[in-house]
Amino acid sequence: MKYQVIIIGGGPAGYTAAEAAGKAGMSVLLIEKRSVGGVCLNEGCIPTKTLLYSAKLLDNAKGASKYAITAGDVSFDLPKIIARKNKVVRKLVLGIKAKLSASQVSMVDGTATIVDKNHVQVGEDIYEGEKLIICTGSETFVPTITGLDQVDYWTHRNALDAKELPASLTIVGGGVIGMEFASFFNSLGVKVTVIEMMDEVLSGMDKELSGHLRHEYAKRGIQFLLQTRVVALSQDSDGICVTYEQDEEKATIVSEKLLLSVGRKAVMHGFGLENLGLQLTQRGNVVVNEHMETSLSGVYACGDITGFSLLAHTAVREAEVAVNHLLGKPDTMSYRAIPGVVYTNPEFAGVGQTEESLLAKGITYCAETIPMAYSGRFVAENEGVNGYCKLLLDEDKRIIGAHVLGNPASEIITLAGIAIEMMMTAAEFKKIVIPHPTVGEIFREAL
Ligand SMILES: Cc1cc2nc3c(=O)[nH]c(=O)nc-3n(C[C@H](O)[C@H](O)[C@H](O)COP(=O)(O)OP(=O)(O)OC[C@H]3O[C@@H](n4cnc5c(N)ncnc54)[C@H](O)[C@@H]3O)c2cc1C
Repeated sequence: MKYQVIIIGGGPAGYTAAEAAGKAGMSVLLIEKRSVGGVCLNEGCIPTKTLLYSAKLLDNAKGASKYAITAGDVSFDLPKIIARKNKVVRKLVLGIKAKLSASQVSMVDGTATIVDKNHVQVGEDIYEGEKLIICTGSETFVPTITGLDQVDYWTHRNALDAKELPASLTIVGGGVIGMEFASFFNSLGVKVTVIEMMDEVLSGMDKELSGHLRHEYAKRGIQFLLQTRVVALSQDSDGICVTYEQDEEKATIVSEKLLLSVGRKAVMHGFGLENLGLQLTQRGNVVVNEHMETSLSGVYACGDITGFSLLAHTAVREAEVAVNHLLGKPDTMSYRAIPGVVYTNPEFAGVGQTEESLLAKGITYCAETIPMAYSGRFVAENEGVNGYCKLLLDEDKRIIGAHVLGNPASEIITLAGIAIEMMMTAAEFKKIVIPHPTVGEIFREAL
């Protein structure tokens, strides 16, 4: 069986590449070992956001009296929340499958093993391809901690399908995944503790606004242990004991459940990648050029395996670039304006440079920070809540970074992302007419 392109992995990178190549008339084979949609649709972006929406509705219903609405007794049904999440996932996975079929993509269920750049094996079958796109994604990184093998810990997969709410939950890792689960379980009444090794949660996001978000959740009852290292784990009849080190002092916290969310690592092993002898980065990711082509001509790598941002929208864009290149269409990947969003309530989003990244690079910049109360729409819809919008400008007054804490940061951050990608100056951005009243007007106010 011969194809013009073989794609390994059916996550956002793989299914985007498959659909684009299929639509362009190429014969495409997509190989997926678990479920089309990858981590994002099945156990990442979509299921977490579905759960978080239920939690947000619960928060809003409980706070309805602030808007002169009487909601009565508000309660929730966890099994039904999880069942709705599963329904949403099923619907979207079916949608992806339908799009792939409509684009004439051939699909094989199974684990692909790379034989060489033109041959991939699944079970007994060997498939031949002119080009190869590797989109095997990433998996949970499980750290080495004394006693880990003796405790019944959760990863995000278990947390997404919790049948019952624990009374207490310790989350190791205050990154995006840790904070989103902290937000979800806090809204549902679980006593949450977040342990983070760094001096602030959400490493890589704007540090000042991350601190504001942490304070907000601390007010709602989440306990944060920063600059804290977990050194041992054990389990007894009271629950899971997490021993940690902080300021050279050791202490132990006991909780019913433990969620590990310390990071993700690229899937690089167990499928014959080494047979290609690709050049790797110092951190062990596959080296790609601006067209997503690896050091071996005709072999591309897209998505989390490249280790650039571990975000679905980056994976999608990288896949488009790769397919355009193999179709001979000019296109290059730009990482200048990749938005990052934390879907807590309030949401927190950032794009482009942070003050921390600029300081590290020694780039001169100026920061404009204003409260979200400068947006009329925000005030109308966020009784008693504030947030911040921070814009970063370079010496030529070009917008190089934007950070928003406040709903709906996930939606409005795109406006700033476009400005950063187009390298707009403040004056150019201000010429864009933004509908009134919308929260996106906050960027004009900040300028
Ligand atoms: C809890 C959680 C929440 C997240 N939330 C967000 C979010 O809100 N926004 C966002 O942008 N990103 C989010 N992410 C990250 C996002 O899921 C990933 O960036 C995205 O899925 C990467 O896409 P990908 O195509 O590179 O890889 P993946 O989605 O990991 O897909 C890779 C696929 O390859 C398959 N595969 C691997 N090896 C083989 C093989 N040998 N043969 C056949 N198939 C193989 C796997 O089964 C998998 O389906 C989240 C992740 C998690 C875990």
